[in-house]
Amino acid sequence: VVADIVSTSELPPGAEGREFQVDLLLPGFINAHSHLEYTLFHGRLPRGRIPFGDWIDAIAALKKGATGDAYFEGVKSGVAQLLAGGTTTVIDSAHSPEAARGLSGAAVRYVLLWEILGLLEDQAREGYAGLHERLALPGGIRCINVGVNPHAPYSIGPYLRGRLKVLLKENPDLVCAWHLNETAEEMELFETGGGDLAGFLQRHELPLPFDAPPRCSPLEFLGREQLLDRCDLAFHLNHFRVEDASQFAAPCGVVHCPGTHAFFDRPPFPAMKLISAGANLCLGTDSLASATTLNMFDVVRCAGRAFPALTGPQLLDLATRNPARLRPLAIVSPRLGIIEPGAAADFAAIRMPAGFDMDMRELLLVPEAQVAATFIAGEKLF
Ligand SMILES: [Zn+2]
Repeated sequence: VVADIVSTSELPPGAEGREFQVDLLLPGFINAHSHLEYTLFHGRLPRGRIPFGDWIDAIAALKKGATGDAYFEGVKSGVAQLLAGGTTTVIDSAHSPEAARGLSGAAVRYVLLWEILGLLEDQAREGYAGLHERLALPGGIRCINVGVNPHAPYSIGPYLRGRLKVLLKENPDLVCAWHLNETAEEMELFETGGGDLAGFLQRHELPLPFDAPPRCSPLEFLGREQLLDRCDLAFHLNHFRVEDASQFAAPCGVVHCPGTHAFFDRPPFPAMKLISAGANLCLGTDSLASATTLNMFDVVRCAGRAFPALTGPQLLDLATRNPARLRPLAIVSPRLGIIEPGAAADFAAIRMPAGFDMDMRELLLVPEAQVAATFIAGEKLF
């Protein structure tokens, strides 16, 4: 825990031996969305402006051939990459028990969200039974919280929606996050019942998630289904109306993943519109199945280049103070996402080129700047 902040001239006797030379000491980054179990899928999926169904087909084929060991190794490699990029806390979605095993031995602080999906009732029944077993698995020493990630409104049928409502009612503190309003195909499906995503479901002989097209966005659909009130986190939310933003004020949030946005060559993300309308905007890496890096410092800098109107402190907040205000993290003691007496000694130490004298925004965007060390609970782990 951070005991105090003093100038170097006031260091107590004996502290010199533990000095660590650093140019810029930042709070450890909080990665608000990843699927570390997919780390080994890096470079094996189609990218660019492809129908989303093509990407889902490709990842489903990779998942068919993946063993538990591959997920376990993926998480281990993913955690190492997170640490190398200054991440000290991660909110990770997983479907395999091996991924949870990988996380439970990891040095990084984590919230584990169990992913569930199913449009066909039989599959959904099986998945839901498995969810109870997974929620009961013991967490590792750095586990902060456990919750659910119903994948997305288009992949959750009426049976699962019903079960989730009961589960969330019976467990008022259970954290819940959805992939929401991510693609134009998803918006079209809920508006019209047709489009590429409907074609994808048809090809796979899967039913639509609703009886009749609700003629609204997936987000509004969750509201009608009485599931939106318990949505703590929306992943992506690339499409939204201004009036949707306040739904995601702290302690809720929206997670934007700049790497995934670039991977699919999506139109610019309206970050300023979302922030000014009251949403608590956070950053995530998503997985290496739909991004090319798990380095949060790079993700922060990518966001900085994409959103020139953000000040340096605002930019840093997206990966520190904003996610620290999220419901599953706000309760943590010592506090995360900030350097102050009493807060967790979680740091990203940044090495800068010689002779820098700039404001925070410029500092963060210096191309040569890089993470030199990562500390969690005062321990140097990278
Ligand atoms: Zn995701």
